[in-house]
Amino acid sequence: METSFSKEQLKDKDNKSSEKIFRKCVHCGFCNATCPTYKLLGNELDGPRGRIYLIKDMLENNKPPNEKIVKHIDRCLSCYSCMTTCPSGVNYMHLIDHGRNHIEKTYKRSFNDRFIRSLLSTALSKSINFRIIAILGKIAKPFQFFFPKKMREMISIMPVRFPTKTLPTMNVYPAKNKKKPIARVALLTGCVQKVISPQINEATIRLLNRHGVEVIAPKGIDCCGSLNHHLGKSNLANKDFKKNISIWYDEYLKNGLDAIIANTSGCGTTLKDYGFIFRADENKDLRKKAKKISELTKDITEYVEDKVKLNFIKRSTNEKKYKIAYHSACSMQHGQKIHQGPIDLIKKTGNEVSDIPDGHICCGSAGTYNLLQSDIAKKLLENKIDNIKKVKPQIISTGNVGCIVQIAKATKIPILHTIEIIDWYTGGPKPKVLKNL
Ligand code: SF4
Ligand code: SF4
Repeated sequence: METSFSKEQLKDKDNKSSEKIFRKCVHCGFCNATCPTYKLLGNELDGPRGRIYLIKDMLENNKPPNEKIVKHIDRCLSCYSCMTTCPSGVNYMHLIDHGRNHIEKTYKRSFNDRFIRSLLSTALSKSINFRIIAILGKIAKPFQFFFPKKMREMISIMPVRFPTKTLPTMNVYPAKNKKKPIARVALLTGCVQKVISPQINEATIRLLNRHGVEVIAPKGIDCCGSLNHHLGKSNLANKDFKKNISIWYDEYLKNGLDAIIANTSGCGTTLKDYGFIFRADENKDLRKKAKKISELTKDITEYVEDKVKLNFIKRSTNEKKYKIAYHSACSMQHGQKIHQGPIDLIKKTGNEVSDIPDGHICCGSAGTYNLLQSDIAKKLLENKIDNIKKVKPQIISTGNVGCIVQIAKATKIPILHTIEIIDWYTGGPKPKVLKNL
């Protein structure tokens, strides 16, 4: 694709790298075939190729976008299915991130839009804020019909109760039965996940500790920053990024870290991109640290598969075998290119694992997308559930809490994080949601 950035514009680091990406695109349109919004809406501007043109036009002309451009960019799920399909290696993720930042800086949204986006940014990027807003949401639930649509969606999705934690909050979770741990890793415990699904971190810690890995959860780490990053709020996102980089890098230098573990693939994708985000920062030290943090980051299934010799244990609680449908989260399969590993891990438990038809298509969760673009998200969820039903599973498994929440809204089939299954078959408790199975 030809570009017409001026020399002056190319002095900007973001323009410079986006220009390189634009030039890789040969406008073949293969990516449209696997884009959920293009498939659903049939409009070129709701597909990756059309969006690339919109972003290019907006950046080259260095002008605020109009309402139409914002509508089509906002409809992108950031699922990155287009990146898996693209034969030319176009990094659409970096283009859409740049486009969103430009919109946030130059376009004035309606009051309602600004309000809901600020609310999401505040509510979801800190666990304490999420708890407070969830309590307010619970109080507002009976009156939700008086609220505007997006607020209603948000109130309806808020949990009515928080699950009880079974592990105390500690900074260091020591390895069990080993005088010297085989490894030392930091776990990103997350912001929303640790409130609504503490069992995922607990399964991760238990499994790693049992297999001789020390787990640390340093104070001060909360959100990975991806929520604000995808809302285009780069200033807020950068604050989280820099704080996390500094805390983890200090730990890496002082006590050693073999890996940083993400058990929510959406967050893992962003951690693996810290190096790119700060690639041209004027602070050389930050560039080096960000790169290291990205190199250290592993999805929990990736880490377990590569570094842990799993000890599967047969017990009365796991004698029965199940049919498990594996939902490959977009951030896992397209963002991190991890797909077969989690399936192979589950297969080691002796259970039958099925792929879901059209498994490359998003379930509609996509961070805050199910709240901001609820009509499209609902349609994608309906399609996902229809496809899940085709394989008639007893359990669904995935590696991203957003997908768990989204899919659980529309089915009674129990849905587990993949690591909960592996923990259960290697000595952990049977997950509570399976009590009737
Ligand atoms: S598949 Fe890749 S090269 Fe082809 S239009 Fe899409 S982004 Fe461009
Ligand atoms: S990220 Fe997903 S929704 Fe956005 S253009 Fe690519 S395939 Fe389409």
